[in-house]
Amino acid sequence: MDPMEQVFIGIGSNRGDPAGICRDAVGALDRTGSVRVLRMSSLYRSKPVGVLDQDWFVNGVASCETDLEPLELLDRVLEIEKAFGRRRLVRWGPRTLDLDLLCYGRRRVDHWRLTIPHPRLHRRLFVLVPLAEIAPDWVHPGRQLTARQLIDQLMKQDHDQVVVPLAG
Ligand code: ADP
Ligand code: MG
Repeated sequence: MDPMEQVFIGIGSNRGDPAGICRDAVGALDRTGSVRVLRMSSLYRSKPVGVLDQDWFVNGVASCETDLEPLELLDRVLEIEKAFGRRRLVRWGPRTLDLDLLCYGRRRVDHWRLTIPHPRLHRRLFVLVPLAEIAPDWVHPGRQLTARQLIDQLMKQDHDQVVVPLAG
């Protein structure tokens, strides 16, 4: 058996009951064979980035351990997205469930279907805020900065992103 790797998975939804969908998605991840959810962040609300004319998102990050290979894990999360009825109509547009592989141990993957660490991870506040919450000691494998340091860097360059704790 392959050794276990720690992975972080970004979870987002802006359709239907987005908070319920995010919570159910964590359950679905944990039920997937060879994946165990270790920790789930709080949920946050975030203003859409890119396509602005859509509802705010609910986002969170789960820390998991797995012995699946990165592409196998990608296939699992794509299956889960599909099971939640995601229809990919517009890039960065509304979606029932978005699951992103943020990082996979200290590994780098450069494949046509999969880039790890996620190429936009360091520029997305809705990923960095929950990541900093559950993994304050984590260091970005390429940039050598913690999530908190990446947040500080991003806040100097980009004043448009809004991420707030989900009430309740
Ligand atoms: P985004 O999450 O950037 O808004 P999409 O979810 O629409 O974009 O893109 C999904 C596709 O991106 C997947 O089919 C997958 O092949 C590809 N992809 C590349 N790298 C990753 C990654 N680290 N995590 C998830 N999907 C990825
Ligand atoms: Mg995605």
